[in-house]
Amino acid sequence: MELLKKTAVEIRQMLLKKEVSAQDLVDAAYKRIDTIEEKIGAYNCLTKEYALETAKKVDEKIAKGENLPPLAGIPLALKDNINLKGYKTTASSKILENFVSPYDATVSLKLKENLIPVIGKTNLDEFAMGSSNENSAFKKVHNPYNLNKVPGGSSGGSAASVAALESYLALGSDTGGSIRLPASFCGITGFKPTYGRVSRYGLIAFASSLDQIGPFGRCVEDVANLYFAIAGNDKKDSTSLNMKIENPLGTLKNPVKGLKIGVIKELLTDDVDEDVKNAIISAVKIYEKSGCTIKEISLPLLKHSIGIYYIVATAEASSNLARFDGVKYGYRTKNPSNLMEMYTKTRQEGFGDEVKRRIMLGTYALSSGYYDAYYKKAQQMRRLVKEDFDRAFKEVDLLVSPTCPNTAFELGSRNDDPIKMYLTDVGTICANLIGSPAISIPCGFDKSGMPIGAHLLADCFNDNLLLQAAYNYEAQTEFNKYFAKL
Ligand code: GLN
Repeated sequence: MELLKKTAVEIRQMLLKKEVSAQDLVDAAYKRIDTIEEKIGAYNCLTKEYALETAKKVDEKIAKGENLPPLAGIPLALKDNINLKGYKTTASSKILENFVSPYDATVSLKLKENLIPVIGKTNLDEFAMGSSNENSAFKKVHNPYNLNKVPGGSSGGSAASVAALESYLALGSDTGGSIRLPASFCGITGFKPTYGRVSRYGLIAFASSLDQIGPFGRCVEDVANLYFAIAGNDKKDSTSLNMKIENPLGTLKNPVKGLKIGVIKELLTDDVDEDVKNAIISAVKIYEKSGCTIKEISLPLLKHSIGIYYIVATAEASSNLARFDGVKYGYRTKNPSNLMEMYTKTRQEGFGDEVKRRIMLGTYALSSGYYDAYYKKAQQMRRLVKEDFDRAFKEVDLLVSPTCPNTAFELGSRNDDPIKMYLTDVGTICANLIGSPAISIPCGFDKSGMPIGAHLLADCFNDNLLLQAAYNYEAQTEFNKYFAKL
């Protein structure tokens, strides 16, 4: 168990000193999964053969004294909407229940190049649509801090696996907060890079103008290392940024003195739980002590972000999900009487309720006559929100807020009220609308012992500055050193 509580940075040293082998690490992760996974539900499938093969390669390199990439040999959990060749990629949907990836996503190839053993594919809200992981077609994920509570979504399995000590690292995807929200609910660190930094090739698309893959870890340095391992231009993704990526480790530990930090007024109102609010105020004080200037920033258009998001995201989803029609791959209904019935029944039987709700909303928003009133209007508003942030970034370098106004809620408690569920993302969605990098870091616990996350957001392309600021906070606090008692 003690081995599993370490960070990847610590494990790296142990590997180099031969105190532990990569095979030991993979074995320890699977042993933990054997004992605990039934209670957590983080994994859709395990990828044992691949993990052990990678560990073997790492151990051979260590034996020969060859150089190792920074995260080589460290077990990672991969969200099950990212393709890994030869293994199932289901997006936690019945429509892809038996789909085996014929190719690797670009990030999966990068994991291979970096000799990072993928130990399994993690559970998620179906097609990454949700905030609680309750929309998986297969099973629920339970929060390791309290098994009756949600882990957050949609990358709930990835976050829970790291928090339950089933893996050291994980990858998720973030369309409106799906990395940061579960990181916050499970007491770990989760980072959404600037849109386009990490290739989306091989990620099952939800809303293409918002989706971004990013890392989870137990400390900021692990997350920075993993981000650097997977980032970079990719010709296979037309929205991939063609910019050189500096290694974040170069500036990670630099002081933050003189940095200007804005506290978002609209996200620290009385609607925020008291414990969450107090934790954020304390976090801001840490930055003040480090020599940062603190300023309240108002973003008046922020209140529209949820409305904008649920038009843009559902519109894009309705188009992206058109490919699941029973013809090319995935589930097909049995014995349809004609072609139209084959399409309709396949989709009726294959998709869950939330996915259907979004396809209907999105199709409506894109339909002729409504396109101008909804989709076009939402995109125009998105631009105005971006301008709000542009103005803010003339005054400050970073923006701080709670990742979520509340901590993890009880399983089942928001299922009858989709609007209430959608409001969970009020603090995270704006980063996707404007394409900026944002991170959630552990910053406290509420009265019932559930983790609280602080959300830091920087202007586009300032990923490294964001990681530096997050590191600075972490170095002065202990909140990332707690573990769920399971
Ligand atoms: N919770 C948001 C949604 O349901 C965001 C999901 C995500 O980031 N993938 O759409």
